[in-house]
Amino acid sequence: MADFPRSLSEFEQRFGDEAACAEYLAATRWPDGFVCPGCGGGKSWRLETKSWTYECARCGRETSVTAGTIMQHSKLPLTTWFWATYVMATQPRGIAALQLQHELGLGSYKTAWLLCAKLRRSMIVPDPTPLSGLVEIDKTEIAWRSRNDPGTGGRRKQEKAVVVGAVEVQDLRLGRIRLSILPDYSAISLQAFLTAHLAPGATAKIDERSGGCLALGTNHDPYVIGVTAADKDLPGIHRVFSELDVWALSVHHGLRRHHLQAYLDEFVFRFNHRRRRDAAFLSLLGVAAAHSPLPYDQLVSRGTHARGFGFPRQ
Ligand SMILES: [Zn+2]
Repeated sequence: MADFPRSLSEFEQRFGDEAACAEYLAATRWPDGFVCPGCGGGKSWRLETKSWTYECARCGRETSVTAGTIMQHSKLPLTTWFWATYVMATQPRGIAALQLQHELGLGSYKTAWLLCAKLRRSMIVPDPTPLSGLVEIDKTEIAWRSRNDPGTGGRRKQEKAVVVGAVEVQDLRLGRIRLSILPDYSAISLQAFLTAHLAPGATAKIDERSGGCLALGTNHDPYVIGVTAADKDLPGIHRVFSELDVWALSVHHGLRRHHLQAYLDEFVFRFNHRRRRDAAFLSLLGVAAAHSPLPYDQLVSRGTHARGFGFPRQ
């Protein structure tokens, strides 16, 4: 989508009214014209009594431009959804409910909070395409803070979770990632992660200390490295871990235990969409028709060595 806005001001100009948003949705979902989801018919007319709703000429089914998306049945204007989604998709911090309420002049905090919660939930929908090619895998420990811990200073007992991460690597450039909490350090847990997230034939580069030899299944072509200096031999995944640390501290001021996997999923979503803002935007809106899986070569565009997220400046 070459014409996707590059800045928030450009975005506001482009999507300033309901018609602009609805036309964008229709063009994205039905690039060759409306297709009835009921019968597949291509002939339809727009209803005058319902906004942005098509009636199929063949079967009579009515389909709203927002049907099946995150905006379905919402009373909020499309411009509100679009603005909040754009900010959530393009800013590392997303947006807080209070700020959203203020920026958009929403009547209630609850409305803003629900909007934020829905958008964040869209981030935890897993990418169905498993990692492929050369994949670096390692474990790390993530400290969480307890309910009463303000997250700054003071003496406290740090509790930690074991997190396993995987990243596609090609010529020192990073592709997509996966992060998951492991119940323990066992090879069985690691193997379950590998089975779920690596494509058959992927080359797993893994440290022996992680139980790599035991965990690698017959589907993966094992490339098990030595037992020393794992962070030097697995620079890609350790770069991901350090970015995760920075993000967790700066954005969330430390992670809370009960939401740990949700935070990891948000980080994974942001990382994997870092070069496709249009795809992140559509993915959050739930516009499934335009979901193209993000091919590896588009993610690792030339000259970008993935230092940081590479989020655009507004
Ligand atoms: Zn139909």
